[in-house]
Amino acid sequence: MASPVFKALFATATANSDTAVTTSTAQHVVSVPNDDGDAMYILANILHLRNDQLPMRIPPDLLHKIACLARKYECVVAAGRATVQWFDRLYASKDKIDTWRIVEAAFLLDEATFFARFSSRWVFEASLYAHVRSIPAPTTADTHHLALLLANCASKANTMIHVDLDTMIDPCIVPFSNQYRHYIDWAPQMSPTPESLPEGKPPTECHVDSDGATLYLGALRDADIWPSTVWLQTKDTANGKGETVGSLVEKLAAFREPEYDDVDKCEFCEGVKIGFTEELERMQESHRIRLWGLCLDCVKAGGVNRGECRYEHTKPMSYTLQASAVQGATAGNQGA
Ligand SMILES: [Zn+2]
Ligand SMILES: [Zn+2]
Repeated sequence: MASPVFKALFATATANSDTAVTTSTAQHVVSVPNDDGDAMYILANILHLRNDQLPMRIPPDLLHKIACLARKYECVVAAGRATVQWFDRLYASKDKIDTWRIVEAAFLLDEATFFARFSSRWVFEASLYAHVRSIPAPTTADTHHLALLLANCASKANTMIHVDLDTMIDPCIVPFSNQYRHYIDWAPQMSPTPESLPEGKPPTECHVDSDGATLYLGALRDADIWPSTVWLQTKDTANGKGETVGSLVEKLAAFREPEYDDVDKCEFCEGVKIGFTEELERMQESHRIRLWGLCLDCVKAGGVNRGECRYEHTKPMSYTLQASAVQGATAGNQGA
């Protein structure tokens, strides 16, 4: 039997009764009156391999109840695989759902892929101008720690977005500082000598960089990406929370740099176009590969899992180096 807990219950029930199996089944049902009937019915079908009896989709609440039951009756391994299709359908669904319940369900069912996906979605739902997303309410003792980790994850994502934007904007701010203003073909802080100028003509300031910077900053403002004051005006009708981490990441991914021709730049220009392009591309790439939520194997390892995780994600460099050092040492020992 897939569940040691059911096994024990049935064994006791049979010992108490020498009549029919149905009696022991009835005694078993009576002994778990607090369990949800629908969830128990589905779990029983899964454990009896009655896949034809399983619904195509189930509401988040029911999936959560099944997860709790699978945990309670210690049959997560047997129940887990059958639940993947329901996670998948919920993930594809456009309905507004309680994401935290699904994160919990994925955690309880040890479902690594959808744990990463739904925890990322939860982080994406965090409002950008309320600095911290409040800690979700755990429904089991097993998920208290998880709730804290997830709230922390949303807070980190929020901070990272601000830092990323500042880094991207920085090349555009430089040409406006007095330190970098310059006359055409003259280094910053230097003024053209009178003999280098045509008769009666005043010296001309170089505007290549500041024109480019103005264009880029304007484009970011038009796209409601920057400055952060535009986030307050953005109405995310889906959740009424204004700009969220997810909606801003989407806007940044879709942002296209406006055309700007800087062939007229002199050798003292700062190269705003190159700087802005590089930072934009770096940020879009880092956002694309980043795991915004949590990795189940890393959570279970209490930090960063040193081995391979079921959900592929980048890990902090220091851990990668340490892990390869450990592997190298092990390989060396084996060779000796
Ligand atoms: Zn210049
Ligand atoms: Zn991991």
